[in-house]
Order: sequence, then structure tokens, then C-alpha cells
Amino acid sequence: MSAQKSDNRRHEDGNYPCPQCGTPQVETVQIEETFDHGGRKKPIRVTARLPIKHCRKCDFSFEDWKTEEARRRAACAQVGVQSPEEIRGIRKAYGLSQKAFAQLTRLGGATLNRWERGHLIQNGAYDDYLYLLSFPENLERLKNRRRFGEQSDDKRFQCLRPTAEQRRQASTFRLTAASRPPVSEENRGGRTDKVEATADGSAAE
Ligand SMILES: [Zn+2]
Repeated sequence: MSAQKSDNRRHEDGNYPCPQCGTPQVETVQIEETFDHGGRKKPIRVTARLPIKHCRKCDFSFEDWKTEEARRRAACAQVGVQSPEEIRGIRKAYGLSQKAFAQLTRLGGATLNRWERGHLIQNGAYDDYLYLLSFPENLERLKNRRRFGEQSDDKRFQCLRPTAEQRRQASTFRLTAASRPPVSEENRGGRTDKVEATADGSAAE
């Protein structure tokens, strides 16, 4: 994924000298490892093949960021959710910062950051949400909803202040409280006063 290229990673594969003997002849080998990943409330036990570095000269083995990334990817795969790189890829495809993406999607900025770094594994519902966000038309819908939401808030606020015409209509229907239903013709008899007397809207006997 192209998103990874812009990350601040100084070491490319094969550029490490051996930390023990200093030789540049270091290879990547796959090892199988069982580990506990702490990205959920309960640690997840994962068995996966992981890349580690191995010195051909002195036989020393060591890990790098790719080993750790592979652990996180394997833990996400076991849970059945997208990996940290995939989440980062969704956001970066829109050219948005973590802050901007978190604001638009209402995902907490700190939470998004933890997901992208693999320190926290998202639950299934959030994973589905992230999946839907990967479709540009859905992000567009969300943007429209935000815009519409702002407008409708204004409208709602205006509705709280009745216009002169609304007051005139209300008096026509003898409405003095917003929640009281109009009294129909057949109920205008002796029961009307009793019905109106109850505060909770139920008919008084
Ligand atoms: Zn070595």
C-alpha cells in the first residue's frame, strides 16, 4: 500500500548491519511464534509466521519493525478485522490527517491513533464502519450529513420561536400548551375539562 511509503521509516529491508558483529550481510528469515497480543480487553493468543533478521556471519538473530508489524497484522487477522496499515490506508487515500479524519467520522482522535499504530484492535462494528468509510461515496454522504445536520439544527432552533401566524393558528385551535392535542367536536362535551386537567396526557375519569 502506498500509504506506507510516507511513513517515517529509515530502514529498508536489508539495510541493517548486524548489531553483534557489524556485518551488512543480514537476511530476513521466517520464524513461527506464539505470542499474546494486548490490543483487546483480554490478550489474544496468536500463532503466526514472523519475519526476523538473521546474520549469516555470526548467526545472531534480531527483530525489527517489520516483525512487530507482522505481529499486529496477525492479531487483527485472527480477530477478523482490518490491520493497522489498512486503516491508515483508508484515511490516507483521502489525504486527510488523523485529526481531520477523526473529526469527520466522529472516531476519537486518540482511538484512531491507537488503531493505526496497532496498540488497540477495533471491534467488529467499528471495523465495519471503517470498511464503509473506504468507499468515497460513503464519505461524501457523511460530509453531506454533517452539512445538513448543521442546517437542520438552525431550523430546529427557529421552530422553538413561534411566528405570529403560528400563534394565531394556535389560538384558533385553543392550544395553550405545545403537547396538548386539539379537542375534537365530539369531545367538547362534559369531558373536555377533565381531559385537559391531567398533566400527563392521560384521560382523567
Ligand atoms: Zn553478525
